[in-house]
Amino acid sequence: MVDYDVIVAGAGTGGATTAYTLAKKGRSVLLIDRKEKEKIGDKTCGDALGNHHILEVRELVGLPEVPSDIIEHEVTGIDLIAPDREHRLRMTGPTTTGMSFNRLKMGQWFLGLAEKEGVELRAATRVKRLLYDDGKVAGIKIMDSSGNDKDISSKIVVDATGATGMLRRQLPDTTPIERVINKEDQMVAWRDIYETPEYDFETPEILEIFWNQDETLGGYTWIFPQGKNRVNVGAGVMTIKGHRKPQDIMKNFVEPNWDFYKTELKMLDSSGGVAPIRRPIDTMVDDNFMLVGDAACQVNPIHGGGIGSSILGGALAGITAAEALEKNDTSINALWGYNPKYMEMYGGKQASLDVFRWFLLNITNDDIDYAFQKQIIKASDLLDTSMTGKMTIGTGEKFKRLISGVGNIPLLRRVQKVAHLMEDIRELYRQYPNSIKGLTDWQNKLWPIYDAAKKL
Ligand SMILES: Cc1cc2nc3c(=O)[nH]c(=O)nc-3n(C[C@H](O)[C@H](O)[C@H](O)COP(=O)(O)OP(=O)(O)OC[C@H]3O[C@@H](n4cnc5c(N)ncnc54)[C@H](O)[C@@H]3O)c2cc1C
Repeated sequence: MVDYDVIVAGAGTGGATTAYTLAKKGRSVLLIDRKEKEKIGDKTCGDALGNHHILEVRELVGLPEVPSDIIEHEVTGIDLIAPDREHRLRMTGPTTTGMSFNRLKMGQWFLGLAEKEGVELRAATRVKRLLYDDGKVAGIKIMDSSGNDKDISSKIVVDATGATGMLRRQLPDTTPIERVINKEDQMVAWRDIYETPEYDFETPEILEIFWNQDETLGGYTWIFPQGKNRVNVGAGVMTIKGHRKPQDIMKNFVEPNWDFYKTELKMLDSSGGVAPIRRPIDTMVDDNFMLVGDAACQVNPIHGGGIGSSILGGALAGITAAEALEKNDTSINALWGYNPKYMEMYGGKQASLDVFRWFLLNITNDDIDYAFQKQIIKASDLLDTSMTGKMTIGTGEKFKRLISGVGNIPLLRRVQKVAHLMEDIRELYRQYPNSIKGLTDWQNKLWPIYDAAKKL
């Protein structure tokens, strides 16, 4: 007799959505978080989310409307700004429509949805380690706020502990799941939230992303207004060898170069964070075990947004787990279906953008300024690339016209190569194996694409 059908470790957006989905399907779920209940959801974030994510998860598991008191401001578009700060591309449309929001309230909302469906929450409780029975995951050891340890059993354990993936890291050598995430596949960031009583943001409905390879290599600076007189500002970089510290970037680059810093400011919050920025973990399941959200690397590698994909992952994991429990089989084979579903809906796009991330790492500020000035890149192209992972600018007739009209052939040739690699990896994700048996062969086809992308 086990204590619960499912234990979900981590009550962030990913874990809470997994728990919500399972409880809605009549399953007994224990949701555990080390934070006090009132603090769950309080996290370093850009606080921005596209509406399409909510709509997608509503289709899957009936997620309700986001309550209006969570939303700080409606967002209608995103501006991408070149290093010269003169040229910008405005991306607008249904896929950039969304919200800037209060992060704590958003987290509390997801938690409340799960609890309303009957999920049992244990807050202020640390998940310590996995428990095994006959070599297979069978529960977890926890430590409560008084320091007392306790063993709890379940048929499935879900690791939704965020970027640390603390249960994933403890899996035995024999697991097909990657346990360690390379440093170069992570982003480290710092962000501040200010009230700006003397400074008006003229277009609070537009989020601004500033590229600058000298200052924020592999990342960017963001200025996300949350209304006319409030802003979420931050800088993130890829954690490659010798990377700069985001706090130094804020102090030495962001503060001196943005006008609102010259006015009176009231700091509301200031903190750092880490996110994985790569393709999803190749298999997010093992016997009696699943990964969701940042623990599964379900984050957009280009902009670092991961709330939408964590709730998608949570919904898909919950649906698959409920079906497996119904059949009384929670083996890796029974849980496998979660992998291809996620890869089809979001993972293939993530992988394609991961390839694009390696390309971006190797281009200069001059290259980006040039691409913006000559309109090699158009807002519609970038929107297409960021939303679907499909790169349309390096292929077809349009590209031939660019070659003859624009010059800078080496840059254009590299754009063409990355476009082809992105298509190759998308195609590979369309062939994601339908069982664990095909995983190694499939992975062997991934590495050459990455090797080529890193050399671009
Ligand atoms: C600086 C920054 C800016 C970002 N901006 C955005 C943005 O604007 N929009 C967007 O969509 N995404 C953004 N993201 C990414 C987004 O925050 C994450 O992808 C998302 O929160 C992932 O949700 P999750 O549920 O997987 O993990 P989390 O939200 O991190 O939740 C994990 C939970 O697990 C708990 N936990 C961890 N370890 C234990 C343990 N041992 N025992 C018990 N509980 C534990 C934690 O307390 C936490 O509540 C940003 C990330 C960073 C770092």
